[in-house]
Amino acid sequence: MSDFDAIIIGTGQAGPPLAGRLTAAGMKVAIIERKLFGGTCVNVGCTPTKTMVASAYAAHLARRAADYGVALDGKVRVDMKQVKARKDAIVGRSTTGLERWLREMAGCTVYTGHARFVSSHEVAVGGEVLAAEKIFINVGGRALAPDMPGLDQVDYLTNSSMMALDVLPPHLLIVGGSYIGLEFAQMFRRFGSEVTVIEMAPRLIAREDDDVSAAVADILQREGIAIRVNAKCITVSRRGNDVATGLDCIEGAPEVVGTHLLLAVGRRPNTDDLGLDKAGVVTDQRGYIQVDDQLRTNVEGVWALGDCNGKGAFTHTSYNDFEIVAANLLDNDARRVSDRIPAYNLYIDPPLGRAGMSEAEVRKSGRPALIGTMPMESVGRAREKGETLGFMKVLVDRASKHILGASILGLNGDEVIHCILDLMYAKAPYTVMQRAVHIHPTVSELVPTMLGDLKPLQ
Ligand SMILES: Cc1cc2nc3c(=O)[nH]c(=O)nc-3n(C[C@H](O)[C@H](O)[C@H](O)COP(=O)(O)OP(=O)(O)OC[C@H]3O[C@@H](n4cnc5c(N)ncnc54)[C@H](O)[C@@H]3O)c2cc1C
Repeated sequence: MSDFDAIIIGTGQAGPPLAGRLTAAGMKVAIIERKLFGGTCVNVGCTPTKTMVASAYAAHLARRAADYGVALDGKVRVDMKQVKARKDAIVGRSTTGLERWLREMAGCTVYTGHARFVSSHEVAVGGEVLAAEKIFINVGGRALAPDMPGLDQVDYLTNSSMMALDVLPPHLLIVGGSYIGLEFAQMFRRFGSEVTVIEMAPRLIAREDDDVSAAVADILQREGIAIRVNAKCITVSRRGNDVATGLDCIEGAPEVVGTHLLLAVGRRPNTDDLGLDKAGVVTDQRGYIQVDDQLRTNVEGVWALGDCNGKGAFTHTSYNDFEIVAANLLDNDARRVSDRIPAYNLYIDPPLGRAGMSEAEVRKSGRPALIGTMPMESVGRAREKGETLGFMKVLVDRASKHILGASILGLNGDEVIHCILDLMYAKAPYTVMQRAVHIHPTVSELVPTMLGDLKPLQ
């Protein structure tokens, strides 16, 4: 038995910085990782996908070179081995850098292996049992393989196995028309694959507003991506070397045949083989660890951070969980999850930046509100860059003048959203930004203009 002040299970986005803070405060810390240091984001999530999105953008721009008066001789060809090598190099630097940092951290002992609770304050890893008064769970999640008829008969890919692909799938079928599926869809279409997106709901990214969802579908369809919505009762079967997907759609052929199948239908927390029952830690029905507003579980001295607590599904929410726990434990600062404003991006091109409530959520709340919209066609910077697809939309509380939410689908939408997000955190009325002088020529300079032309939300 080895005694520590704190044990951290998992090296996702919260565990390593927490190890840094706890050891700096003089604690003896054990951190346990069963697979890849840095977890999902660094190895099979944000970093590799955005690296590949950048390759796909380069291919797309090269094909459009003539639009800008640039002549390229010959056909644009994507070398998937080079795309993967570039991605592997960028990922490799992050993961090895993180592992080295943890191994060299004074006061921190790194264990590799699968950790399981044996009691509320004891964790087994390898042949050892570690004990600590404080235990922090940062085990993240993994791709969900749904209970889909025929899935045991075919080979399929997930976001993790996609990362090992160094060939171009001739026809990629993607089951799941949400954030992860759509990023892969556009990326592989731009690499040169035929791509079909199969979605059970009546529209893509169903939690977004209708107009956002329709504009995203339009962007993808313009690039030749086939979209099949209302795909009820999806089945899969082998067809020679190919895979067939039965859709039972209202419109279109009842079956699509492709060469590769990617499942992007959601994620599940890595809490099923963690010995939580031995610790007495309570989860909800889907396996997410139940936590309070400061990320404490029901067991004294045990916290859960990141995707496994179901309070967020992003790198920035997991990192913010670390900040909340560290602030409460070490800084006498009672930070809370409920201080966080929901915000995220969809990294198709052009990207979608989101903050706060959607229009549908504002309508449902019944509060009197104002709305402002602007097509990207009206943004000079977008016209100059030849990237005018998409639109901006902002919602404001009529009484307080506070911004309730925004969707920025268009050039630099992933960055522009932050000027709105910061105003929301500042709890300042929209009129503050309306009078701010933004720099020309940018997309952000049109946000005050949009705020100057708000209309009542009917
Ligand atoms: C394809 C894809 C793209 C994404 N893109 C974005 C994006 O652009 N922006 C964004 O904000 N988010 C993105 N995400 C989500 C983001 O990756 C996660 O929200 C983020 O990694 C936070 O995870 P985490 O800290 O909860 O844990 P994770 O990063 O999942 O890490 C958990 C770690 O715990 C380890 N572990 C699990 N169980 C055990 C155990 N029993 N013993 C020891 N170790 C264990 C795992 O091996 C893993 O290393 C993406 C996800 C995917 C799949």
